[in-house]
Amino acid sequence: MLKISNLHVAIDDKEILKGVDLEIGPGELHAIMGPNGSGKSTLGYALAGREGYDITAGSVEFEGEDLAEMEPEERAAAGLFLAFQYPVEIPGVNNAYFLRAALNAQRKARGEEEIDSMNFLKAVRESLKSLKMDEALLKRAVNEGFSGGEKKRNEIVQMAVLQPKLAVLDETDSGLDIDALKLVAEGINAQRDGKRSFLVITHYQRLLDYLTPDRVHVLSDGRVVESGGEELAERLEAEGYAFLEEGSEA
Ligand code: ADP
Ligand code: MG
Ligand code: MG
Repeated sequence: MLKISNLHVAIDDKEILKGVDLEIGPGELHAIMGPNGSGKSTLGYALAGREGYDITAGSVEFEGEDLAEMEPEERAAAGLFLAFQYPVEIPGVNNAYFLRAALNAQRKARGEEEIDSMNFLKAVRESLKSLKMDEALLKRAVNEGFSGGEKKRNEIVQMAVLQPKLAVLDETDSGLDIDALKLVAEGINAQRDGKRSFLVITHYQRLLDYLTPDRVHVLSDGRVVESGGEELAERLEAEGYAFLEEGSEA
């Protein structure tokens, strides 16, 4: 599904990612953890193709295709979805309109017919309900005036509507209280079907209490310094990130 090899990414000529290797198979959920400033969000933005994030070495393949060769819209159409740490507000653009346009752009790129408004509303209402989101949010501008938690849950609604092959979620858990956190985790779990894959970026272990990651990777100073199973996340919770420095001396 996703194969990252020796990925180096620079922002303004400053190297942030210094050789990341990561492979995610179909149906797998991987978690990336790491201290602040280790390059987690940079990895997400590089996958999204955000301007200013230059791949200076290495490669990213998405279903065998070179991601660097694809425009951000092409990546989305191919089934890559990214939920950002700080979801953007889009004043003047109605949330329902935005969701439907995004879905139809994806369908068009795949040569599929547009979804009609009845079926679209039905699908959206179901995901709003499961995330305990007020339907009125559909009529408001995208994320405008949404609380932090509503923005994060809205990302999960987008994901539910778009049904991506690979979803990258950057700190979708931050700023959520425990009930909202559980809803977000349920939203992710509901979409795990053995085919679709997830890369969950998180600073804290608590979201992983409600998900079952196949692999956990620790990013530090632009490199994956440790990979393991769920127990690695528990160890980080218990010991913090301090072991990273100790580990390099051992
Ligand atoms: P994380 O998400 O793990 O907290 P980031 O990927 O946001 O880390 O940041 C990694 C490093 O890149 C930090 O040292 C940060 O200061 C730097 N960085 C991030 N964005 C920019 C930017 N737009 N310009 C310059 N440096 C940046
Ligand atoms: Mg951070
Ligand atoms: Mg970040």
